[in-house]
Amino acid sequence: MASVLAKADAESFVRELASSSTVIAPLMKGGQVRFDAYSPADELVLDYETTTMPPKGLFLPHGACLMEYGGRKKPTVPVEADKFTVFMNHVDAEALSILDEAYSGRFKDNPYLGRRASSTVVAVSSAREMLNGFSHVLDLRYKRGFDLMMLDGGDYYELKPATVKGRRLMKSRLIGKGKAVKPETEWTAGKLDLKRIGAFLDLGPEQGLWKEIAKECFACGVCAYVCPVCHCFDVEDRSVLGGRGCRQRCWDSCMLADFAQVAGGVNFRGKRHERIHNWYHHKFARAVTERSRPDCVGCGRCITYCPAKIRIYDRIKECEMQG
Ligand code: SF4
Ligand code: SF4
Repeated sequence: MASVLAKADAESFVRELASSSTVIAPLMKGGQVRFDAYSPADELVLDYETTTMPPKGLFLPHGACLMEYGGRKKPTVPVEADKFTVFMNHVDAEALSILDEAYSGRFKDNPYLGRRASSTVVAVSSAREMLNGFSHVLDLRYKRGFDLMMLDGGDYYELKPATVKGRRLMKSRLIGKGKAVKPETEWTAGKLDLKRIGAFLDLGPEQGLWKEIAKECFACGVCAYVCPVCHCFDVEDRSVLGGRGCRQRCWDSCMLADFAQVAGGVNFRGKRHERIHNWYHHKFARAVTERSRPDCVGCGRCITYCPAKIRIYDRIKECEMQG
């Protein structure tokens, strides 16, 4: 028999956890769902359609201090955050597993890894796509990025711990025994052909498609900021009088005009269509070569929040057709 939690008890489960530790969850605030610290007065939305900001900000906060310096003291690395449990859907948890790979490879990113070590992630599966989402056409694994998976079984969740931290959450009396959720049949029809997409992307930025998108795109960088996978950053020193200060990590976007500008004013991706091509190429060609999966989980946020209404999914289909 499997461990199960009735959907009607899901909020009580979250409340129980929040009574003894910090719980971050998708909450309805001012007509929008966003990740915030849960309190019993909040409206919990575990099956959220979308959130403007993805949960990556919990692990990579914009403007986080990486190092304090000043005076005669040696530079110090700030102590990391308190422990917390965070609930997110399975698509966002998949995105987190990509960030884990990116930040724990050859170069270990200690501030990120510190926050990950402080967190317990609960992934809540949902049968429906997120708003403008296309995760079903990507080969996603849903095997990493979380400590506990809550599999949607209709009116209940099957709880499957993946780590010791996940097993610790299973002590609640609200959890009983029941039927395991039937695994979805492996469905391959309609999946994006990443080989063909990669072949077209490898042709470079001078193809007509990129110039066509460049006529519509504002180069605002919103698609990268709302993306749960995009993780480029800039480092800035914020100094105060007396030589003290803080070295900060700030979110950046390769769509922005000065992203590839280097000393002497040289910009090696100065044209908009070159930057647009680079964004798609990194996600759907380079990432596939380097990590065997795209830097995209099909959450749809870049479509939902693009002010120019550019639909990345349609553009990727065009690459597939031309590849
Ligand atoms: S959000 Fe849309 S307009 Fe802004 S950079 Fe991305 S594709 Fe261009
Ligand atoms: S590229 Fe767009 S659809 Fe893909 S993960 Fe990022 S925001 Fe979501």
